[in-house]
Amino acid sequence: MKKVLITGAAGFLGSHLCDRFIKEGFHVIAMDNLITGDLKNIEHLFKLENFEYYHHDVTKFVHVPGNLDYILHFASPASPIDYLKIPIQTLKVGALGTHNLLGLAKEKNARILIASTSEIYGDPLVHPQTEEYYGNVNTIGPRGVYDEAKRFQESITMAYHRFHGVETRIVRIFNTYGPRMRLNDGRVIPAFMGQALRGEDLTVFGDGSQTRSFCYVDDEIEGIYRLLMSDYSDPVNVGNPHEITISEFAEEIIKLTGTTQKVVYKELPQDDPMQRQPDISKAKEVLGWEPKVGREEGMKRTFEYFKSLSKEDLEKTEHRDFTNRNRN
Ligand code: UDP
Repeated sequence: MKKVLITGAAGFLGSHLCDRFIKEGFHVIAMDNLITGDLKNIEHLFKLENFEYYHHDVTKFVHVPGNLDYILHFASPASPIDYLKIPIQTLKVGALGTHNLLGLAKEKNARILIASTSEIYGDPLVHPQTEEYYGNVNTIGPRGVYDEAKRFQESITMAYHRFHGVETRIVRIFNTYGPRMRLNDGRVIPAFMGQALRGEDLTVFGDGSQTRSFCYVDDEIEGIYRLLMSDYSDPVNVGNPHEITISEFAEEIIKLTGTTQKVVYKELPQDDPMQRQPDISKAKEVLGWEPKVGREEGMKRTFEYFKSLSKEDLEKTEHRDFTNRNRN
């Protein structure tokens, strides 16, 4: 049985990856430190014999006994609210965490896929974003801790590939959504859906003319799986190119949820990218991949998930402890 280590396994994408690799017949070692992840996302797997969970912070030395075939490094805070609250952990997991996992991959002769992001393009001056674009990132802005950690992550991954011959894969993930997104992570989809369910107005930041392109989680996971199994070691964009402005998106959510609330406008956060759309020519060519789930269907499924949460969960807009425990 092939063995895979998934970091950030209790998070949104990590937990869907666990499901996928279990379905493919792998032995899955799930790792998380639960700073932003939630065991609820993977508790249905604990009864399986081919599933193990390690509570561990990957910025510390990572040890896994026995052989290992694949590593997927998905541990990282991944929302602008998190970067502000836990900036140093964000930098460390992208930099030190990646270093540890590349070392483990080298030691075990395992293939490693690292989760990069459209954020490495910053506030892009090229549209849509191709893998050849180098990006426009403010190193010292609030998002810099994430963007620069992810840029460093790509560099060190290529260095391990070129210098040590490690088999590496780099996926640049664009905005992805679906069940198990954290309700209170501040991202636009949980924010709007939570607001609709609580009967609050929908908060659009800025004038809402900024764009995003949202990919349903099942499509994203398929793209990642194909990339891991491919022989392609340069970065590949995986996202849905169907672009929409945030104000149009707010109207779609109002229609979908049937809320009688309205849109209210709030200040645009610093360095919020004005436009984002993946060019997925490479993914089509190299992986034979393109997204299949449209926004209407995907949002419907996602709303079903948020509706299934308890009233208590919905009321909790802030429940994490960001005191001393998380200061390092
Ligand atoms: N956004 C918004 N209202 C919210 C949360 C987010 O208008 O309550 C906007 C945000 O300013 C950004 C877009 O929605 O332009 C997507 O934000 P998100 O945090 O989901 O992802 P990212 O900015 O990282 O793409």
